[in-house]
Amino acid sequence: MTDIIIIGAGPAGLTAAIYARRAAKSVLVLEAKGYGGQIINTPHIENYPVAAHISGFDFATKVYEQAKALGAEFKFEKAIEIRDDGEIKTVVTPKNEYEAKAVIIATGSENRKLGVEGEDKLVGRGISYCATCDGAFFRKKNVAVVGGGNTALEDALYMADIADKVYLIHRRDSFRGEEATAEKLRQRENVELVLNSQVTKLNAEKRLQSVEVTDKQGNTRTLEVSGLFVAVGRIPENKSFENLIELDGAGYAASAENCRTKTPGVFVAGDNRQKEVRQLVTAASDGAVAATEAVKYLNE
Ligand code: NAP
Repeated sequence: MTDIIIIGAGPAGLTAAIYARRAAKSVLVLEAKGYGGQIINTPHIENYPVAAHISGFDFATKVYEQAKALGAEFKFEKAIEIRDDGEIKTVVTPKNEYEAKAVIIATGSENRKLGVEGEDKLVGRGISYCATCDGAFFRKKNVAVVGGGNTALEDALYMADIADKVYLIHRRDSFRGEEATAEKLRQRENVELVLNSQVTKLNAEKRLQSVEVTDKQGNTRTLEVSGLFVAVGRIPENKSFENLIELDGAGYAASAENCRTKTPGVFVAGDNRQKEVRQLVTAASDGAVAATEAVKYLNE
């Protein structure tokens, strides 16, 4: 029996593990993929206090190693269900069942699809959801990035160093992402902003060859690109746990500021939680709060 099971090894889950271990609680972290969560794909982090410039990979690795050094146990298994028997929670994975006194759900979110016909078939053949993972395949080629949040802006900037030409396609004329990054993009000669426009068609033989974009007036334009990086937001990964947590219309987990949910002993932390600001620093903050509350709950 573990004191606290943390589901998800992104910044929220890893920070929770650090706080829970420092409170001398036993900790098991379950992670479906690799440690680090979404931040591992961010090329440059410039908005986290003290770390003026660090890659997402280095950041995630440092936090992971910190949690491990403090004694958190890690298992790379996907949590698919939590059963609540009051003081005992059972977290089910495809291989095992693990018991804990408290659970912190820090599952983050997954990529939202663009929803254009043919998108699924072209993944790995021109369409990617991760510029830092696949960007190198498009050296000296023309690519497009779609989206207007921080991910899209950072992906476009990253690709501007690799590709010949980068189109940034966004459905509005102002960005959701940080102005500082948008300004850097405007300064780049090989970046063209395609605003008030949506991708309406993907043209491909075996691989992506071009995309059609349609603006708000209904004018269509074809962009000859061999790569399309889709960065149109994320979908919270809470569905498997909706028996124990309340979800809002968009699927985010409702909780008080203290990260407690409607089920005693079940907490949520990070991007899957209903909140206004989803940043690395707020994910870490959630992890600290959720673990502190979980420790309080165990000591109650
Ligand atoms: P996001 O902030 O939710 O932005 C998604 C973007 O995609 C929005 O601009 C949205 O347009 C657009 N969009 C959504 N659905 C679309 C569709 N069907 N077709 C075309 N465009 C669509 O998502 P994100 O950029 O992945 O970021 C997620 C969170 O992580 C954010 O809180 C972000 O700030 C954070 N993040 C932070 C950093 C950092 O701090 N360095 C880096 C990356 C991400 P509208 O604007 O019109 O809604």
